[in-house]
Amino acid sequence: MTADSTYCIGILGSGQLGRMIAIAAAQLGLDTHVYAPDAAASPAAAVAGRWTEAAYDDMAALDAFAASVNVVTSEFENVPAEVMTRLAMHCPASPGEAALRVAQHRVAEKTIASDLGIDTPRFWPVTSAADLETGLRELAGAGILKTCRLGYDGKGQHRVNGSEAADSLYADFGSDDAILEEHIDFAFEISCLVARSQAGDICHFPVSRNQHENGILARTTAPADIAPELAQAAQTATAALADRLDLFGLLAVEFFVTPDGGLLFNEMAPRPHNSFHWTIEGCASSQFTQLARVLAGLGFGDTRAYGSWQMDNLLGQHMPQVPELLTAAGVHLHLYGKPEARTDRKMGHATRRVRAD
Ligand code: ATP
Ligand code: MG
Repeated sequence: MTADSTYCIGILGSGQLGRMIAIAAAQLGLDTHVYAPDAAASPAAAVAGRWTEAAYDDMAALDAFAASVNVVTSEFENVPAEVMTRLAMHCPASPGEAALRVAQHRVAEKTIASDLGIDTPRFWPVTSAADLETGLRELAGAGILKTCRLGYDGKGQHRVNGSEAADSLYADFGSDDAILEEHIDFAFEISCLVARSQAGDICHFPVSRNQHENGILARTTAPADIAPELAQAAQTATAALADRLDLFGLLAVEFFVTPDGGLLFNEMAPRPHNSFHWTIEGCASSQFTQLARVLAGLGFGDTRAYGSWQMDNLLGQHMPQVPELLTAAGVHLHLYGKPEARTDRKMGHATRRVRAD
């Protein structure tokens, strides 16, 4: 881009991630155009320069959208993967179809990780009751049955203890594309984030440490207070995954850390991640700014952390805390503009610096 042109980033998806990408883009003088089936009155469209409300399989609308922007990114992992190739006929698309396809499927992403020598929990693809029976027998202990696609915030998951009958469990679960994972008694969870340019250059963020409640991220503290070798190993694995996927944009990877200090890949997302919202205040270049920069070809910004940070998610049931948070010293409050505060719905987050150094 040049300084005198209006460069426009297209964003697929209408949620809070799209909203925060649009806000960061605006700060850099970039325009945004949101495309989603539910764009009207959405968190992202409310702050974007333009929006289009159309389905993800409306080829004419997708073509018109891509022709109207300079580059496209997806804040939403479950856009049909082939849409990215369609958009790429008009402009660069982040992530590409192949990377999105892998990140959409729990077996595919764990297979790629283990092919790269990155350990994962033991897992069994489950597409029949017989698969489940085999997996349960080999597992012989606590496990988690998950849908391979469309799960988020712990949805589409069922904890098993190995004593349940495979047939009825399979029928009750109701998915013919599932994965059985061993239950990991982890010490804690961490996540990594890299930005990767079209040329293949990589920039890391500091590692985040995460606490989930009921399968939903509750709190992130960052930079994670962990051994430098562990942070390094997680970052190296994340960069290897981004290279393997020839990723353009952001890649977030979630890991379990075992009590003996081992690292296990859980899942990845080719987009901004909830566990890096602290970077808005914590780094000169937040995850959203970095994505806008990479998309517009502006080069990487500085991702060193200013001190240590804590980010707490505000779910629907936490909204009564808002008046207090509005007046609390040192709290950076973010509200996503969602009208209905449903239980477990991500409504906003609050970030505070917990240490200056
Ligand atoms: P997200 O909100 O990150 O999209 P998700 O619904 O895709 O979540 P996971 O990340 O697979 O699902 O699981 C959510 C949380 O459940 C994990 O962060 C972890 O706390 C717990 N969990 C998932 N899989 C396992 C496992 N195999 N062993 C132990 N805990 C697990
Ligand atoms: Mg997860």
